Amino acid sequence: MLSYEQARYKVIEEVGKRKGPRATTVVSVWDALGLVLAQEVRTDREYPPFDRSTRDGYAVNSKEVMPGAGLKCAGEIKAGDTVSEALAAGTCLQIMTGAAVPAAADAVVMIEHVRREGELVRFERAAQPGQNIVPRGSEAVAAQIVLSPGMRLGYAELALAAQVGAVQLKCAKRPRVAILSTGDEIVLIDETPGPFQIRNSNSVSLASQVRIAGGEPAVLGNAADRIEDLGEKIERGLKEDVLVLSGGVSMGKYDLVESVLKAMGAEFFFDAVAIRPGKPAVFGVCQGKPVFGLPGNPVSTMVTFELFVVPAIDLLSGAEARALPLVEARLAEAMREKLGLTHFLPARVEWRGNVPEVKALRWQGSGDIAALARANCFLVIPDDKESIEIGEAVAVILRKDVV
Ligand code: AMP
Ligand code: MG
Repeated sequence: MLSYEQARYKVIEEVGKRKGPRATTVVSVWDALGLVLAQEVRTDREYPPFDRSTRDGYAVNSKEVMPGAGLKCAGEIKAGDTVSEALAAGTCLQIMTGAAVPAAADAVVMIEHVRREGELVRFERAAQPGQNIVPRGSEAVAAQIVLSPGMRLGYAELALAAQVGAVQLKCAKRPRVAILSTGDEIVLIDETPGPFQIRNSNSVSLASQVRIAGGEPAVLGNAADRIEDLGEKIERGLKEDVLVLSGGVSMGKYDLVESVLKAMGAEFFFDAVAIRPGKPAVFGVCQGKPVFGLPGNPVSTMVTFELFVVPAIDLLSGAEARALPLVEARLAEAMREKLGLTHFLPARVEWRGNVPEVKALRWQGSGDIAALARANCFLVIPDDKESIEIGEAVAVILRKDVV
């Protein structure tokens, strides 16, 4: 049985082989959040475009500044002012944050460090050349590539595009992810379930996870635990870029997903992973499309999506597979778990001073959605650790949607 790292690697390897060139679309910066860039973005000029003052204060020639002595203030420069004249010897100019520093000035003295006596500006201390000035071109030179294909566009990347005037961006289209739940007991979320029926919550968590990962969900509904119904709906799912099924992959008599996929020509790369929850997770390729069969217990579905489906969506978006959002935390309570499986337990991480401390939540196992809704992370217990003591360092995977 593969470890979760090996299983992730398999997904990355196999989907990576098949990713090909992606369809692209041109999107305004206002609408491109979370998309993957499919072009280069270059600066339209140098940044900053002029020597920029980073403080409100006085532009000076640092050699002329003597502690306790003064210089005559010859005027002021506001942000946006055209600056063409050099600083005259023996004078200073009042200057604002974001304004251009004139030629012959090589420092800005903060307003907090002077005393104004009429026309005279008296300095408390010496000035260092370059202080409080960002030189022209020091952030980027003209025509420099600042964003490259494959980068995911977050708020900083979009601000950078806006700064250089790249207001329309060629991006990869979001991969379409078919979501198909399975199970005779499953009803629509707006139906009233019979006493032994269950609402289709997995389609909701999966659609949300697909969106967060940068894909576009195509929710196909639910297939009964019957070969014909499964076959028909899987066929539809294979028209999208990826197919994600929930349920029907365990050892039960009515767990038919794998056999139906096999009959449709699927090649499997794993059908079990040494994890809990989520051990029966299946990954294969069917008719050229990556297919994931995730165990139906809701927390298993969520965990296995994060571990295995997210990297596939990344690759199909033209990005690199993201690393898991792992951080190290200190365990708040001793724990024991079964050897041989990596456990992903609903937990809360809290920052105590600068030290993240994590505590597993009480839960009833992988059907317990309420426990996960109280969690802000998964506590990772390695497969070779039977017990972990209080205060030991452990890994947690942050739930980036709520942290
Ligand atoms: P399975 O993986 O099909 O054996 O299902 C395992 C457990 O998950 C069962 O208790 C199912 O009722 C539950 N389950 C399966 N599919 C869903 C779903 N779409 N939404 C909520 N619970 C589900
Ligand atoms: Mg089932």
